[in-house]
Amino acid sequence: MDFYTLKMRLQADGTLEKARNLAAKIRKQAPVHWENRTFDRANWDELVACGLLKAMAPAPWGEATSWAEAILILEEIALQCGEAGFALALTSQLWTLRGLAIHGSEAQQKKWIPRLMQGEIAATAIAEDHSGSELGLSQTRLLKQADGNFLLNGSKSHTSLSFEASLILVPAFTTPLPETGGLAIALLEAGKPGLSYGKRWQKMGFRTLPTQDINFSDISLQPGEIIFQGKVLGEIMTYGRILFGMLGAGLARFCVNEMTTWAQLRKQNERPIGDHQFIQERIVNSLLEAETARSMALEAMHSLENKEKERFMRASLAKLAGAKAFRLAAENGVAVLGSRGYEEGPLSRAQRDSLGLLSAGGTEEFHKDAVWGFLKRNS
Ligand SMILES: Cc1cc2nc3c(=O)[nH]c(=O)nc-3n(C[C@H](O)[C@H](O)[C@H](O)COP(=O)(O)OP(=O)(O)OC[C@H]3O[C@@H](n4cnc5c(N)ncnc54)[C@H](O)[C@@H]3O)c2cc1C
Repeated sequence: MDFYTLKMRLQADGTLEKARNLAAKIRKQAPVHWENRTFDRANWDELVACGLLKAMAPAPWGEATSWAEAILILEEIALQCGEAGFALALTSQLWTLRGLAIHGSEAQQKKWIPRLMQGEIAATAIAEDHSGSELGLSQTRLLKQADGNFLLNGSKSHTSLSFEASLILVPAFTTPLPETGGLAIALLEAGKPGLSYGKRWQKMGFRTLPTQDINFSDISLQPGEIIFQGKVLGEIMTYGRILFGMLGAGLARFCVNEMTTWAQLRKQNERPIGDHQFIQERIVNSLLEAETARSMALEAMHSLENKEKERFMRASLAKLAGAKAFRLAAENGVAVLGSRGYEEGPLSRAQRDSLGLLSAGGTEEFHKDAVWGFLKRNS
């Protein structure tokens, strides 16, 4: 896949310009939403209204040629606005859209894709209190009934935008075993009787991305509301991990840009602080990690599109690299901006968000374990 040509096309047809305009609006609103711990719904609607969501999804739902355009547009939004919460919400929307487009039945696609393309929100609820992101330990169950329908029972923790979402992807094991046993994905519609919302987390970062626990009590679902090949979750989340990687790279680049501007503006003894090699090193090292993460995300996307065996490992590596690049750049950003960096502002927010990105989408240990597993199997 030629990402360079793809990016040139997005530049020429005005898509990246739209992304920059939207990012400027998101950046302006970020302090208010951070303070109030609210999601920026107005700019989410603007994402749809200005045609950007359409530019990210391929035909027949959108105007892109593949799901690769989305990662380049996501990158542009992230690096221009530096707002991790909004960008993470977008990644979740994108992996759900792609997941439905590739793995959903025709009826599921018809029901959900147009609604999500209109801006209704999709959430993904994997983590549980006792199991973290270790899905094998999940206690959420889909119990088959005599009439062929299923009852969903269990709970999920820390689900981003669960309260705001119209659709929640809920991985759960079907029972009784072994006849119908196995992982499935419930396409849970908000408002179903038996769905309730629990604790709203007071996170140190990602405050613009409300995160809440959810409980399922005897929620009745028809078979058409379930994707039974639960193994496709791995494929869905592989794209998700690549998006996470690109998101981290874009946010790291945002920090690099902030540092570069400041290092030239701020003078000590009439010399810009950017003249100091220690300052240059912080900025250049951050850029090196950001660019490395970006390349790894693009390589992983290439691998996914070509269904290479290595795609799962590459996606985990890309996620790790993106989160680490953001972490390093945010830390350097706070240092380069001195006391101003430590004040409430984009870089102190980035510092806190970057710790969250290490955990959201699977922890460092989880992904290293996945990479080690791949290496072992293929040595
Ligand atoms: C901003 C944010 C948004 C989130 N959004 C969502 C969401 O939308 N949907 C969702 O499902 N989840 C979401 N999460 C939850 C996230 O996926 C979990 O926090 C993550 O999976 C870790 O689970 P845990 O917090 O229970 O940690 P634990 O599982 O308790 O892990 C604690 C530490 O122990 C390590 N550990 C645990 N088991 C092992 C092991 N076997 N080997 C080695 N190390 C191990 C972990 O890597 C981690 O470092 C979000 C989290 C954040 C921070």
